[in-house]
Amino acid sequence: MPDPSMQISVACPECAMESLTALSSAVIASALLTGHSIRLNAGCHDIYWTATFVERERLRQALRAMKVDAKQPRKEPEPLRRSSIQ
Ligand SMILES: [Zn+2]
Repeated sequence: MPDPSMQISVACPECAMESLTALSSAVIASALLTGHSIRLNAGCHDIYWTATFVERERLRQALRAMKVDAKQPRKEPEPLRRSSIQ
């Protein structure tokens, strides 16, 4: 199964135009955990740069939001409810 990719909105350092870039969620997650740099790309100027602290925080939030979405169909486990009633 391929890594799910994420559409990330980034601002081009040259012209500040916002554009979407696709990154693998696995690559983002491991870079955030290990502190490795993340390469971002802007299509308008075809340039690559290293994500800043602010951009890394945005990626972290996007990753968290995606994981929350994936878990939503699951319901609260039954045993927890029973023990709280007693
Ligand atoms: Zn640009």
